[in-house]
Amino acid sequence: MPPPVTHLEQAKDDQDDLVFLDEHPGTPALSSSARNVWRVMIIDDDEDVHSTTTFALGNLDMQQRPLEFVHAYSAGQARELLKHEQEIAVILLDVVMEQDDAGLHLVRYIRETLKLHDVRIILRTGQPGYAPEIDAIRDFDINDYKTKSELTRIKLFTTVTAAIRSYEQIRKINDSRRGLTQIVHASTQLMSLHGVQNFAAGVLAQIGDLLGCDANGVLCVQECPDDGCHELMVMATAGTFRHLDNITLTVREDQRIHDALELALAQRRNVYGPDYITLYFAGKASRDFVAFLEVRRAPTEIDERLLEVFCSNVAVGLDNVELVSHLHNAAFYDQLCKLPNRTRLVEILDATVAGPAREEATLSLVDLDHFAETNDALGHQFGDMLLIGVANRLQTELGEHVTVARIGGDIFCVLGDSAQVNPGNILALFQRAFSIDGQDVQLSATLGLVRLGEHEGSGADALKDADIALKRAKSQQRAGHFYFSRSMGVEIRERVRMMHALRTAFGQNQLFVVYQPQLDLATRRPVGAEALLRWQTPDGKFISPDRFIPIAEYSGLIIDLGEWVMRTACRELVDLRKAGHEDFMMSINVSQVQFRHPLFLDMLKRALEDTGAPPQNIELEITESMAMEEPDLLIKMLGQIKQTGVSIAIDDFGTGFSSLSYLQRLQIDRLKIDRAFVTEITGSARGSSIAEMVIQLGRNLGLAVIAEGVEDERQAQILQSLGCPLAQGFLFARPMTASALNGWLNNDALEGAA
Ligand code: C2E
Ligand code: MG
Ligand code: MG
Repeated sequence: MPPPVTHLEQAKDDQDDLVFLDEHPGTPALSSSARNVWRVMIIDDDEDVHSTTTFALGNLDMQQRPLEFVHAYSAGQARELLKHEQEIAVILLDVVMEQDDAGLHLVRYIRETLKLHDVRIILRTGQPGYAPEIDAIRDFDINDYKTKSELTRIKLFTTVTAAIRSYEQIRKINDSRRGLTQIVHASTQLMSLHGVQNFAAGVLAQIGDLLGCDANGVLCVQECPDDGCHELMVMATAGTFRHLDNITLTVREDQRIHDALELALAQRRNVYGPDYITLYFAGKASRDFVAFLEVRRAPTEIDERLLEVFCSNVAVGLDNVELVSHLHNAAFYDQLCKLPNRTRLVEILDATVAGPAREEATLSLVDLDHFAETNDALGHQFGDMLLIGVANRLQTELGEHVTVARIGGDIFCVLGDSAQVNPGNILALFQRAFSIDGQDVQLSATLGLVRLGEHEGSGADALKDADIALKRAKSQQRAGHFYFSRSMGVEIRERVRMMHALRTAFGQNQLFVVYQPQLDLATRRPVGAEALLRWQTPDGKFISPDRFIPIAEYSGLIIDLGEWVMRTACRELVDLRKAGHEDFMMSINVSQVQFRHPLFLDMLKRALEDTGAPPQNIELEITESMAMEEPDLLIKMLGQIKQTGVSIAIDDFGTGFSSLSYLQRLQIDRLKIDRAFVTEITGSARGSSIAEMVIQLGRNLGLAVIAEGVEDERQAQILQSLGCPLAQGFLFARPMTASALNGWLNNDALEGAA
């Protein structure tokens, strides 16, 4: 059996000459499509068939390409050859060789094992009886079946031509399909890249992949501003073009590339040169993208079509990436000061607490004091400039290793090494005035700090801790700072726990009101009572209102709770009146939060109306510290409350710093001397001086005075001698439930009375 040969049959003028084939063993270095031939494999154990076939077809072009033959003389040899031979377009295969069905076995092997699906197969047999089953023809994608006698030269030619045509079509479809799959894959890959630069670099790499070569090129964006001055900004480079990174590409840098890109932009389409391609990506908002790539071979028609699909796909992507990075910017950066915002800061914090920098790092919130007033007084534009001024100063003076963020209107945040981020450094920055628009503005700031080395938890937790520290610093009412400590965290958690418990307790009626009698010091007769709230937990423990009232205020629960106390006390007053205590007064504590609620007045009126409690027998106690805030609002409120007929007492009097003139402007009825000053009364002149002053003040202003916290007889006597008419305290009675009060009024009170 002769060895297999592969060679190109030259076109012959004389078609009837018997041709002896020159033998050129070896595999071609270039692919058949690159060399523009069709490769036809003849598999037949009959040598004559090989020579007659090559003789018959050898000098003919099909679709403008000559044929190249590959010869195999047995099924076994064909198997070996097919493992390495590439781009065989047609196989002419003898059905009967070593065995009767060797040919069909080989077909199965070609399709199923070698997975050569494109190659067209034409079966030939000497005897008609050996025709394969219809099933085999269909299952193994056999193109044609002919008996050898049928294959005259003309018939052989038409059969092979048809097979080559169908091979060519299959190849085109498959190339496109492969290309399209690659484009889809490329697009998904590209979408996962963040940032325009990365995306652009990805585009270059994917073009290389698509063309089956290394990417060697440059991708530019052209902005088209109104002045018509076009500039090609390089967004990404690959391969030997890296020196062009991040520049504006002009004729000076590279005339060839520049001109090619300009041409593609002008024609708004891809341009293919002999050794380069220029790709055009139509962008939105008067900006287009263009890429220049060097290639080793001119792209095929399929390449060109695929590149067009790719370009339109990617153009959308480039625009989207720009949009996404814009959105990213908006989502993570404060637009005014161009600083990271809270979301971004939390990301940075998360990375810091998880990394080695954590040990030395400190986070500080920087809250500008009274910024709202400055903003109102000087205008928002001025306020904005001031914020930018603060941002710049923090950024430039604390050093480049410190992260500065803006997380709220007037709240900045700095994060960095404790050597830079500390109260001394930060507060020093506020000693110099900020010069804005020719005006010097002096600002001060309050800091809440967290040492991340001592912090447990996430970045968001660290920020919360810093916030807690800031609140503490502010509550100390001086420009200053506070470091978060773990005990504060425990305290806060305890408070949150209590807040939930209190809500539940209120819902489950674990709260009740007790009444502490108030007496006339001279006659020791009860004149009224103060309603005091009590919370007894299911296990019998009492929680002091000093602890839970602030939590109720903080959580807003005080609004509902206060209304409930008010109604309960009013009802009790009505009951007491029915029991004959007609002149009895009821004092009800009102918290600041309640008092400032816009519907407080309505609530009060409704409670009076619904319960039928006479307003002139109701007194509201507000604390002195509360009376000091926002005087104008308070004066107005008190005026409205007084119109309902209810009277007003200032509780815990003496602990604040009310000025006399201010007190005169408030429409109040009574001063309540704080327990602390009653306790101080020892009989010496100094001990009773404050109580004495308050009593004096009341007399001068025409206000009633009552002393609270009277625990012993001596205190009672001194107060009486100083001219204090009324008192409340354990000496006379402890706070008691409504029914206990009833009994007390009817028995004990009478015994004590003079
Ligand atoms: P307050 O209004 O100054 O109430 C007087 C407090 O002094 C009451 O404490 C009372 O039990 C206590 N007290 C009375 N006599 C004596 C005495 O002789 N010696 C001593 N050591 N203490 C005496 P309580 O009931 O624990 O209430 C504490 C604070 O909680 C009240 O101070 C008031 O500010 C607030 N509070 C209580 N109930 C309510 C309420 O319903 N609403 C509001 N907003 N606050 C309430
Ligand atoms: Mg009170
Ligand atoms: Mg008090």
